[in-house]
Amino acid sequence: MSNDLALLGGSPAIVTDPGDLFAWPIVTQEDEDAILDVLRRGAMSGLDVTKEWEREFAAWNGVEYGLGCCNGTAGLLAAMWACEVGAGTEIICPSMTYWASAVPALQLGATVNFADINPDTLCLDPADLEHRIGPRTKAIVVVHYTGYPCEMDEIMAIARKHGVRVIEDASHAHGGLYKGQMVGTLGDITAMSMMAGKGFAVGEAGMILTNDRTLYERCVAFGHYERTGTVGRWFGVDQQITDPELTPYSGVPLGGAKHRLNQWCAAMGRVQLKYYPQRMAEIQAAMNRFWDLLEGVPGIHAHRPPADSGSTMGGWYSARGLYRAEELGGLPCARYCEAVRAEGFPGCGPGANGALHLHAYFHTADIFRMGQPTSIAFGQRDVRQGPGSLPVSESINEIALSIPWFKHDRPDVIAEYALAFRKAAEHADELGEEVE
Ligand SMILES: *Cc1c(COP(=O)(O)O)cnc(C)c1O
Repeated sequence: MSNDLALLGGSPAIVTDPGDLFAWPIVTQEDEDAILDVLRRGAMSGLDVTKEWEREFAAWNGVEYGLGCCNGTAGLLAAMWACEVGAGTEIICPSMTYWASAVPALQLGATVNFADINPDTLCLDPADLEHRIGPRTKAIVVVHYTGYPCEMDEIMAIARKHGVRVIEDASHAHGGLYKGQMVGTLGDITAMSMMAGKGFAVGEAGMILTNDRTLYERCVAFGHYERTGTVGRWFGVDQQITDPELTPYSGVPLGGAKHRLNQWCAAMGRVQLKYYPQRMAEIQAAMNRFWDLLEGVPGIHAHRPPADSGSTMGGWYSARGLYRAEELGGLPCARYCEAVRAEGFPGCGPGANGALHLHAYFHTADIFRMGQPTSIAFGQRDVRQGPGSLPVSESINEIALSIPWFKHDRPDVIAEYALAFRKAAEHADELGEEVE
């Protein structure tokens, strides 16, 4: 194997066909049989499988209530409403996340005060949180970004001091640990996606978790009319609402939304959960192996909690590495990624999500046709933030890059991928001249 960069004419570091190294989710006959059973019974819109699934998933997390939803976005919307996010109020959310962590707030007539992220965790920076809390702040949405558990001790202490709810968006971190405790069990309520590309993947699906009966009932009332005492062909009679603020509306969802989960997804979830701990352990072994091989290489650093912290990355969703150009003579991240791609990993690119606070949606979109941007149309405080306001989030294309998300721990192949990243870093000086 030549030691020269493949980009400059050498031979690539990655020579082995990845095969199923990245394939996800892992689907077996057991998943197929479970889904076919629902199909053959015509039970797609029922609740029998979904309720078993909710009970099992909540128990695995160690939480009292689980509520399946048609997707994670719906779960976040219901969770925000349950936390009293409404007209004129605010949520705080990191700018670096998928849009669904923030957008539902505007649907409820609230606005989003975006906070910056910590450049090493890529999660909400607790140092940029407290000064954003005001009398209108109803909830802090935290995102365990690409699996990295947020600094929950600091965040919860600030939230409790001000009486603000914490919603965990655990869409990237199913089964992850924060100081030995499951993420998704640390705030007031959790919503998560389980769509086909996520770390726990069962289709278009989501889940809400909480220990708070009031919040659970509100989420039911918001989007699950069939659990409010309604009688139906698909679900019989189900009465999960006792709160007198909610019971008068039984039979019609308060959110005007239908969040019921397709039972194909619930059936697959039950099967996936049986194997998830073992599959997650293998992903963790593979990903940690990759980063251990790159220990000490300049410019590229692991995005994972310290080994002795009791925290883990769960299933390492959409894995990222931390890039530090200053250790490589200022080599732009995009150019470094180009060199890694040439070594045989086409998935390497700079950045992560786009910084949400700069998106026009939060500045100008008039989704209710009120003649005003929705972010201020309901009497909200104007907290819109322009370029330069959240510098770490805005620098994401320089400080983070995509790395392989291995699903199997295969040392020889993983070593090839690690070599690709090492070569590009160790030859950084040869890459500089090519920049235009
Ligand atoms: C995927 C995702 C969601 C939305 O979930 P869907 O199931 O796609 O609606 C919410 N938050 C984060 C952080 C996500 O990555």
